[in-house]
Amino acid sequence: MREDAALVLFSGGQDSATCLAWALERFAHVETIGFDYGQRHHVEMVVRGVFRDRIAREFPGWAPRLGPDHGLSLDALRAVSDTALTRETEIAMQADGLPNTFVPGRNLLFLTFAATLAYRRGLKHLVAGVCETDYSGYPDCRDDTLKALQVAINLGMERRFVLHTPLMWRDKAATWALAERLGGTALVEAIREDTHSCYLGDRAHRHPWGYGCGTCPACELRQRGWDAWRAAHV
Ligand code: ZN
Repeated sequence: MREDAALVLFSGGQDSATCLAWALERFAHVETIGFDYGQRHHVEMVVRGVFRDRIAREFPGWAPRLGPDHGLSLDALRAVSDTALTRETEIAMQADGLPNTFVPGRNLLFLTFAATLAYRRGLKHLVAGVCETDYSGYPDCRDDTLKALQVAINLGMERRFVLHTPLMWRDKAATWALAERLGGTALVEAIREDTHSCYLGDRAHRHPWGYGCGTCPACELRQRGWDAWRAAHV
Protein backbone atom coordinates (compact mmCIF):
# COMPACT_ATOMS: atom_id res chain seq x y z
CA MET A 1 0.00 0.00 0.00
CA ARG A 2 1.42 3.38 -1.03
CA GLU A 3 1.58 5.75 1.93
CA ASP A 4 1.75 8.82 -0.33
CA ALA A 5 -1.13 7.94 -2.65
CA ALA A 6 -4.78 8.98 -2.53
CA LEU A 7 -8.11 8.27 -4.16
CA VAL A 8 -10.46 11.27 -4.43
CA LEU A 9 -14.21 10.81 -4.74
CA PHE A 10 -14.67 13.27 -7.59
CA SER A 11 -18.24 14.02 -8.64
CA GLY A 12 -17.55 17.06 -10.80
CA GLY A 13 -18.97 19.53 -8.27
CA GLN A 14 -17.31 22.45 -6.51
CA ASP A 15 -16.59 20.56 -3.29
CA SER A 16 -14.97 17.47 -4.76
CA ALA A 17 -13.00 19.60 -7.25
CA THR A 18 -11.56 21.56 -4.34
CA CYS A 19 -10.77 18.26 -2.61
CA LEU A 20 -8.94 17.07 -5.72
CA ALA A 21 -6.71 20.16 -5.58
CA TRP A 22 -6.23 19.63 -1.83
CA ALA A 23 -5.08 16.05 -2.48
CA LEU A 24 -2.78 17.04 -5.36
CA GLU A 25 -1.08 19.52 -3.05
CA ARG A 26 -0.46 16.80 -0.41
CA PHE A 27 0.07 13.45 -2.07
CA ALA A 28 2.58 12.25 -4.65
CA HIS A 29 0.00 10.22 -6.55
CA VAL A 30 -3.73 10.96 -6.82
CA GLU A 31 -6.40 8.94 -8.61
CA THR A 32 -10.08 9.83 -8.95
CA ILE A 33 -13.31 7.84 -8.86
CA GLY A 34 -16.77 8.88 -10.06
CA PHE A 35 -20.09 7.12 -9.72
CA ASP A 36 -22.83 6.91 -12.28
CA TYR A 37 -26.06 6.06 -10.49
CA GLY A 38 -28.60 7.48 -12.88
CA GLN A 39 -28.35 11.10 -11.78
CA ARG A 40 -31.09 13.06 -13.52
CA HIS A 41 -28.51 14.91 -15.51
CA HIS A 42 -25.32 13.56 -16.92
CA VAL A 43 -23.57 16.94 -16.88
CA GLU A 44 -21.56 16.01 -13.78
CA MET A 45 -20.00 13.01 -15.47
CA VAL A 46 -19.00 15.16 -18.47
CA VAL A 47 -17.45 18.06 -16.55
CA ARG A 48 -15.29 15.64 -14.52
CA GLY A 49 -13.09 14.94 -17.54
CA VAL A 50 -13.01 18.58 -18.59
CA PHE A 51 -11.88 19.68 -15.12
CA ARG A 52 -9.21 16.96 -14.86
CA ASP A 53 -7.83 17.92 -18.30
CA ARG A 54 -7.69 21.57 -17.27
CA ILE A 55 -5.80 20.70 -14.07
CA ALA A 56 -3.29 18.68 -16.09
CA ARG A 57 -2.88 21.59 -18.54
CA GLU A 58 -2.73 24.56 -16.21
CA PHE A 59 -0.99 23.20 -13.12
CA PRO A 60 2.38 21.74 -14.11
CA GLY A 61 3.22 21.05 -10.46
CA TRP A 62 0.16 18.87 -10.04
CA ALA A 63 0.00 17.27 -13.49
CA PRO A 64 2.60 14.51 -12.88
CA ARG A 65 0.76 13.52 -9.68
CA LEU A 66 -2.62 13.12 -11.33
CA GLY A 67 -3.23 9.41 -11.93
CA PRO A 68 -6.05 7.60 -13.72
CA ASP A 69 -9.77 8.25 -13.38
CA HIS A 70 -12.11 5.38 -12.53
CA GLY A 71 -15.78 5.48 -13.51
CA LEU A 72 -18.08 3.09 -11.72
CA SER A 73 -21.64 2.38 -12.69
CA LEU A 74 -23.99 1.84 -9.73
CA ASP A 75 -27.18 0.80 -11.46
CA ALA A 76 -28.27 -1.02 -8.32
CA LEU A 77 -28.39 2.29 -6.45
CA ARG A 78 -30.67 3.68 -9.10
CA ALA A 79 -32.88 0.63 -8.80
CA VAL A 80 -33.44 1.07 -5.07
CA SER A 81 -33.50 4.89 -5.03
CA ASP A 82 -36.61 6.91 -5.51
CA THR A 83 -35.53 10.50 -5.06
CA ALA A 84 -35.53 13.82 -6.87
CA LEU A 85 -31.91 13.23 -7.87
CA THR A 86 -32.66 10.09 -9.85
CA ARG A 87 -36.06 10.81 -11.39
CA GLU A 88 -37.95 13.73 -12.85
CA THR A 89 -39.70 15.25 -9.90
CA GLU A 90 -39.75 18.62 -8.21
CA ILE A 91 -37.15 19.27 -5.53
CA ALA A 92 -38.86 19.82 -2.18
CA MET A 93 -38.47 19.32 1.56
CA GLN A 94 -39.78 16.10 3.08
CA ALA A 95 -41.62 15.78 6.39
CA ASP A 96 -38.41 14.60 8.10
CA GLY A 97 -36.65 17.88 7.20
CA LEU A 98 -34.43 16.36 4.51
CA PRO A 99 -34.72 17.48 0.89
CA ASN A 100 -36.14 14.83 -1.45
CA THR A 101 -32.77 14.82 -3.21
CA PHE A 102 -31.51 12.58 -0.38
CA VAL A 103 -30.45 9.14 -1.61
CA PRO A 104 -30.37 7.03 1.58
CA GLY A 105 -26.87 5.84 2.44
CA ARG A 106 -25.37 7.06 -0.81
CA ASN A 107 -22.09 8.18 0.72
CA LEU A 108 -21.75 4.97 2.71
CA LEU A 109 -21.90 3.04 -0.55
CA PHE A 110 -19.63 5.45 -2.43
CA LEU A 111 -16.94 5.32 0.25
CA THR A 112 -17.13 1.55 0.59
CA PHE A 113 -16.76 1.10 -3.18
CA ALA A 114 -13.93 3.65 -3.17
CA ALA A 115 -12.16 1.68 -0.43
CA THR A 116 -12.56 -1.52 -2.43
CA LEU A 117 -10.88 0.15 -5.40
CA ALA A 118 -8.21 1.77 -3.19
CA TYR A 119 -7.43 -1.67 -1.74
CA ARG A 120 -6.84 -3.06 -5.22
CA ARG A 121 -4.84 -0.02 -6.34
CA GLY A 122 -2.79 0.17 -3.12
CA LEU A 123 -3.89 3.71 -2.25
CA LYS A 124 -3.84 4.51 1.46
CA HIS A 125 -5.77 7.78 1.55
CA LEU A 126 -9.42 8.36 0.67
CA VAL A 127 -10.61 11.93 0.18
CA ALA A 128 -14.28 12.93 0.17
CA GLY A 129 -15.84 16.39 -0.14
CA VAL A 130 -18.57 15.79 2.41
CA CYS A 131 -19.47 18.66 4.69
CA GLU A 132 -21.47 18.97 7.89
CA THR A 133 -21.43 22.75 8.10
CA ASP A 134 -23.20 24.08 5.05
CA TYR A 135 -25.18 21.29 3.49
CA SER A 136 -28.69 19.95 3.35
CA GLY A 137 -28.36 17.90 6.54
CA TYR A 138 -27.66 14.56 4.87
CA PRO A 139 -26.85 12.19 7.76
CA ASP A 140 -24.33 10.23 5.70
CA CYS A 141 -22.21 13.42 5.34
CA ARG A 142 -21.74 13.88 9.08
CA ASP A 143 -18.40 13.66 10.80
CA ASP A 144 -19.46 10.83 13.13
CA THR A 145 -20.77 8.80 10.19
CA LEU A 146 -17.47 9.16 8.34
CA LYS A 147 -15.38 8.32 11.40
CA ALA A 148 -17.47 5.21 12.07
CA LEU A 149 -17.17 4.21 8.43
CA GLN A 150 -13.39 4.52 8.51
CA VAL A 151 -13.33 2.11 11.46
CA ALA A 152 -15.72 -0.31 9.74
CA ILE A 153 -13.76 -0.29 6.48
CA ASN A 154 -10.43 -0.77 8.21
CA LEU A 155 -11.79 -3.66 10.27
CA GLY A 156 -13.59 -5.24 7.35
CA MET A 157 -10.68 -4.97 4.90
CA GLU A 158 -7.84 -5.32 7.40
CA ARG A 159 -6.07 -2.24 6.11
CA ARG A 160 -5.21 1.14 7.55
CA PHE A 161 -7.01 3.55 5.25
CA VAL A 162 -7.20 7.20 6.27
CA LEU A 163 -10.41 8.93 5.33
CA HIS A 164 -9.94 12.66 4.78
CA THR A 165 -12.79 15.18 4.74
CA PRO A 166 -11.09 18.55 4.27
CA LEU A 167 -14.38 20.42 3.90
CA MET A 168 -16.19 18.91 6.90
CA TRP A 169 -16.17 22.13 8.95
CA ARG A 170 -15.89 24.61 6.09
CA ASP A 171 -18.86 26.45 4.67
CA LYS A 172 -19.10 27.25 0.95
CA ALA A 173 -17.38 30.63 1.33
CA ALA A 174 -14.47 28.96 3.11
CA THR A 175 -14.35 26.35 0.33
CA TRP A 176 -13.82 29.10 -2.27
CA ALA A 177 -11.13 30.59 -0.01
CA LEU A 178 -9.43 27.18 0.23
CA ALA A 179 -9.46 26.85 -3.56
CA GLU A 180 -7.77 30.21 -3.93
CA ARG A 181 -5.17 29.34 -1.33
CA LEU A 182 -4.40 26.05 -3.09
CA GLY A 183 -4.37 27.13 -6.71
CA GLY A 184 -4.85 30.88 -6.87
CA THR A 185 -7.10 32.63 -9.35
CA ALA A 186 -6.49 29.91 -11.95
CA LEU A 187 -8.08 27.26 -9.75
CA VAL A 188 -11.00 29.51 -8.81
CA GLU A 189 -11.60 30.10 -12.52
CA ALA A 190 -11.41 26.38 -13.30
CA ILE A 191 -13.96 25.63 -10.57
CA ARG A 192 -16.30 28.41 -11.72
CA GLU A 193 -16.15 27.34 -15.34
CA ASP A 194 -15.71 23.56 -15.31
CA THR A 195 -17.49 22.18 -12.27
CA HIS A 196 -21.19 21.63 -11.85
CA SER A 197 -23.47 21.72 -8.79
CA CYS A 198 -26.97 22.51 -10.14
CA TYR A 199 -29.53 19.77 -9.46
CA LEU A 200 -31.31 20.59 -12.72
CA GLY A 201 -28.23 20.15 -14.89
CA ASP A 202 -28.52 23.69 -16.25
CA ARG A 203 -25.45 24.70 -18.30
CA ALA A 204 -27.27 27.46 -20.21
CA HIS A 205 -27.16 30.17 -17.55
CA ARG A 206 -23.78 31.55 -16.50
CA HIS A 207 -23.57 33.40 -13.19
CA PRO A 208 -20.55 34.92 -11.44
CA TRP A 209 -20.25 31.65 -9.46
CA GLY A 210 -20.64 29.31 -12.44
CA TYR A 211 -23.38 27.59 -14.42
CA GLY A 212 -26.80 26.65 -13.08
CA CYS A 213 -30.50 27.39 -12.90
CA GLY A 214 -29.87 29.81 -10.02
CA THR A 215 -32.84 28.70 -7.96
CA CYS A 216 -32.41 25.04 -6.90
CA PRO A 217 -30.95 24.38 -3.41
CA ALA A 218 -27.50 23.53 -4.84
CA CYS A 219 -27.38 26.76 -6.88
CA GLU A 220 -28.57 28.85 -3.94
CA LEU A 221 -25.90 27.34 -1.70
CA ARG A 222 -23.18 27.91 -4.28
CA GLN A 223 -24.28 31.49 -4.89
CA ARG A 224 -24.51 32.34 -1.18
CA GLY A 225 -21.01 30.98 -0.61
CA TRP A 226 -19.59 32.87 -3.58
CA ASP A 227 -21.23 36.15 -2.49
CA ALA A 228 -19.99 35.74 1.09
CA TRP A 229 -16.47 34.97 -0.08
CA ARG A 230 -16.39 37.90 -2.50
CA ALA A 231 -17.75 40.25 0.19
CA ALA A 232 -15.00 39.16 2.60
CA HIS A 233 -12.41 39.42 -0.16
CA VAL A 234 -12.60 43.13 -0.97
ZN1 ZN B 1 -29.71 24.83 -10.04
